Parts: sequence; structure tokens; C-alpha cells
Amino acid sequence: MQRTLSIIKPDGVGKKLIGEVIKVFENKGFRIAAMKMKRLTRTEAEGFYYVHKERPFFGELVDFMISGPVVLMVLEREDGIAANREIMGATDPAQAAEGTIRAKWADSKQNNIVHGSDSEESARFEVGYFFSETEIC
Ligand code: ADP
Ligand code: MG
Repeated sequence: MQRTLSIIKPDGVGKKLIGEVIKVFENKGFRIAAMKMKRLTRTEAEGFYYVHKERPFFGELVDFMISGPVVLMVLEREDGIAANREIMGATDPAQAAEGTIRAKWADSKQNNIVHGSDSEESARFEVGYFFSETEIC
């Protein structure tokens, strides 16, 4: 079993897609091991996306991520990190494969409904960033 961090971003929450997104993950064999909803602070969002701090879109990305509440989830499945990335689809919804979350619901490269860890190293960092071990069921 492999853990990965999933976030339903403010656009997904605003579009009332929480249930739809969770249903996709559950139908694809994921177990939700932890979940919470919160509005990120600027400091939290900046720290979470520190790998992108030199990218030109960093400021706008942080503004977007704190524009409304998000749903944070620890998902668990065999090969969970890669499976989640496949189910999400490419960053740019125009490039995302048919049937993926981003192809179905995302509006732009930035407003793309979900986040998913991209490696074992980032999954470890990201799960620990938002959840203590006692919060993970
Ligand atoms: P992913 O979320 O698919 O792993 P990245 O890690 O490359 O994508 O980027 C993190 C997030 O930053 C994206 O999900 C998206 O919200 C935003 N982003 C990425 N690239 C761009 C871009 N070129 N313009 C605006 N926002 C972007
Ligand atoms: Mg990424």
C-alpha cells in the first residue's frame, strides 16, 4: 500500500465537486486514510509549494490556493502515487486524457481542481506537512 496526498483545490470546492472527486477515488480502489477541510494560510501554501518558488506562476498559485477552503486527503492504494496522477490527468486540462478529473472539470493550467503527490519523496513530505501520524486512520 502506498500513501499519497490529494487536495481538492478551492475551484473544486467552489464548484461543489467534493463528492464527485471523492467518488472517483473510491471507485478506483483508494481508501481515504485521513481527511480535513481548511482554508490554508499564505505561509502554509508557500511552504507546501516551495519547490515552485522560482516559477513565474508561484505568486498567483499561492493566491489561488488560499482563495477558499481546500479538502486535504491522505489516499491509500497499491501503486497509489502513480494511480492518483493518472486519474487526475495532466496539469493542463487541454492535455489531460479523456475521463480524467482535470479533463472533466478543470478550467485552466492553474485552476485544475486537484493536487496529487508526484513521487514517494514528495508524498512523504506532503502527507507529513498536513497530517500527524495520529490523524491517519
Ligand atoms: P501538477 O499539479 O500537475 O503536479 P505542477 O507541480 O507542475 O503540476 O504545478 C503545481 C500547480 O501549479 C499546478 O497544479 C497548477 O495549479 C499550477 N501551475 C502549474 N503550471 C502552471 C502554469 N504554467 N501557469 C499557471 N499555473 C500553473
Ligand atoms: Mg506537482
